[in-house]
Amino acid sequence: MERSADKVQYIRTCSIWRALEIFGDVPTLLILQSYWLGARRFDDFCRSTGLLKTVVSGRLKKLVENHCLVKVAYTERPRRFEYKATEELLDMFPTALAMLHWERKWGSAKGKIDIRVTHSKCGELTDPHSACVSCRGEVDARDIDWEPGPGIGEMPAVYSRRRRQTSQSNGETTELLDEVTQIIGDRWSALVLRAVFTGLNQFQEILEDTAISTNILADRLADLCDGGVLRRVEEPNDLRRANYRLTDKGRDIYPILITLLQWGDKWRPAPQGPPLLLTHRPCGERLEIIMACSSCAHEVMPHDTSVEVLSDERRIDYGARRRA
Ligand SMILES: [Zn+2]
Ligand SMILES: [Zn+2]
Repeated sequence: MERSADKVQYIRTCSIWRALEIFGDVPTLLILQSYWLGARRFDDFCRSTGLLKTVVSGRLKKLVENHCLVKVAYTERPRRFEYKATEELLDMFPTALAMLHWERKWGSAKGKIDIRVTHSKCGELTDPHSACVSCRGEVDARDIDWEPGPGIGEMPAVYSRRRRQTSQSNGETTELLDEVTQIIGDRWSALVLRAVFTGLNQFQEILEDTAISTNILADRLADLCDGGVLRRVEEPNDLRRANYRLTDKGRDIYPILITLLQWGDKWRPAPQGPPLLLTHRPCGERLEIIMACSSCAHEVMPHDTSVEVLSDERRIDYGARRRA
């Protein structure tokens, strides 16, 4: 059969996708994790991620081009720079907290550094969880209705041929968010999950929705099943109709995707409006997720949070509230 390399397929537009175009990449997520854990200078990022210098430099450049980081000189002679988060990157804080919450609940604990998050608003240690802004109920994917919004449309599926990358373990790397980074940092896996979360369960349906090539899709579905995120349900009478269902572990990824969707809606909006409208069924309101403090239930923001890395007594504050 002829393979048409030029034939462009179209997939649903969505703000999750627009956010993933920037963040859906393992090295980028490792760099952001290092940022949240206090890295500000090039050498810090290299050391804490264990990535090659060329990879770190390329990803930092891309984050600067995407207005997520700014380069600021901290000394003039010799002129040296550090990286500071913009308002756009600080708005990724809920995603970072959602990833942390998931990893603590589901990730394998081995080799992890230990951190402690304090919410200075209440002064207590916190393990923030996702909550509906209207009713403050914890968000469960089964409680959400979705409908197409004004910005729904199609866009060409253009997949770069990047290989999957992981950090080289050099004994110093801080693989705090290891498992979730491998999922969210792989755009194919993230797109597969988006499809399953919107009710597409059969191989063929997921194939059409994502426009991923058949072999890559089969590979990612197998990985997600091996990782306990999806489970395969056989249809005895029709092998082609095997279904993929979310496990509890998989369902808990939902808040992470919704924080990415909210980021995309805010910072990379479609001109016509949001592509997806979500309703929180228990309260009937439009769903907006916040990361709520486990002690006081208020929203946890970067400017009222500090993180301690227990292994080396680092303490990171994200500074006072900034105005855009
Ligand atoms: Zn609600
Ligand atoms: Zn609190």
